[in-house]
Amino acid sequence: MIIKTLEELCQADDRTLHFTPMGLGLGVRMRPEGAAEFQQQVVAQFDLAPQVAESTRKSFEDLRTAFAHGLFCYEIFTLVNDRGLLVLEQALRDRFIAHHGGTVRFVDERNGTQHAVATGSYHELHDVVRKNPRRRLLLDGGQTIAFNGMLGDLRTWARRLGLLRGQRNRAIEQAISDLRNLAAHPAGYHLTTPVEAARTLSDLAEIINHLWGVATPGGRLYPAPHRRDVVVVAWDTAGTQLQMGLADELATAVDPAVGPTADPADPRWRAVIVRAVFRADQGIADPGLRAFDSRYEVTQYPADLLWGPGSLADAAAWTAEHQPEADECDYLDRTFVVRYDGTSLYWPMRPSVAAALPNADQNGYWYAIKADHPNEAYHHVRTRITATGCARRGPCQQCHAETLHTGHYQQVMAAISDPVPPTPSLPPDAATPWAHPRVRVIL
Ligand SMILES: [Zn+2]
Repeated sequence: MIIKTLEELCQADDRTLHFTPMGLGLGVRMRPEGAAEFQQQVVAQFDLAPQVAESTRKSFEDLRTAFAHGLFCYEIFTLVNDRGLLVLEQALRDRFIAHHGGTVRFVDERNGTQHAVATGSYHELHDVVRKNPRRRLLLDGGQTIAFNGMLGDLRTWARRLGLLRGQRNRAIEQAISDLRNLAAHPAGYHLTTPVEAARTLSDLAEIINHLWGVATPGGRLYPAPHRRDVVVVAWDTAGTQLQMGLADELATAVDPAVGPTADPADPRWRAVIVRAVFRADQGIADPGLRAFDSRYEVTQYPADLLWGPGSLADAAAWTAEHQPEADECDYLDRTFVVRYDGTSLYWPMRPSVAAALPNADQNGYWYAIKADHPNEAYHHVRTRITATGCARRGPCQQCHAETLHTGHYQQVMAAISDPVPPTPSLPPDAATPWAHPRVRVIL
């Protein structure tokens, strides 16, 4: 080992200086002062909420502190990254202990007897679990799950309680778990970039905050709920023009810069009023709105038909009279139903619409799929039918979907009846000329 002087230890590591706010600088590098501020700013945005257990917060804070010293020693980014992967397990352990408030209940799978285990620390609990491998963890609702105290079962527990959610997140959590196992049992040398280490800390902060019920505004994994505005979607009946804008701007003055430019009284225009994600100023308008279909789920985020279809003048009058308000929506882990009838595969529907279908539209084989977005539900079913790889039941390891139920219409609708309103009726049939084909023939 080369013994450095204090002055040499305080020299910036040339490898770190090549990482700039614009990305990896080839032939370009930052000055040490600028890099010091930049690398600290990168991790300063990953805050844990005050609700998070103190020991988890301290471990995470250590990671952020150490990250800044990657300026002097590039290898620190790898150490921070790998240690961060272990902090996920610590967070789950802390959350498990906090949830149970001192007593964890188990059921002996051989005779059904209950055992209450007082827990001071997770290590004590883990000891008891190891010595009693035939006991299952008792959940609040009376169900039990296998529980060996390790990371995999902690994740299963957290998902059962909704502390971890989302189908894409499931894949990301699995990837983090795999990396954690690799970091805990390394098979060889590896070096992580500051960008990768920062991504790990970012994901970690989102997951940990969600474990304690806190969403991340603008987050990648557990974002705060998306605002849904009241939007008018209007198209000319010739199918050549489509306009979208906030509905209240339609009701007052129609501003060519933000809303439909058509005359509200022009009968050639058809319109619907929907509640949908539409923040054009932030560039997050739902990309599926252009293809809006009241019967099938074509938008990326939930979009509800409020009125229509009808003329722009009537849309303006309805909006002025009812003044519908914006709300917020969550899109993770939604339930979709997909119909497969012979060779026809239908686009996903929401359960409340499917529940109102007339008998003639109930034929075929039905799938209830849990997914974050409808296209993911569709492609999971399509792959089930046409190829191999996607799981027949349960969480799919090949894609971001989970098969909840399959069978005839009545069977599937009965199995998912909980979220369906008791007396649903079909929404008015409204679709833009650019709507998806509702059904495709697949072979
Ligand atoms: Zn799949």
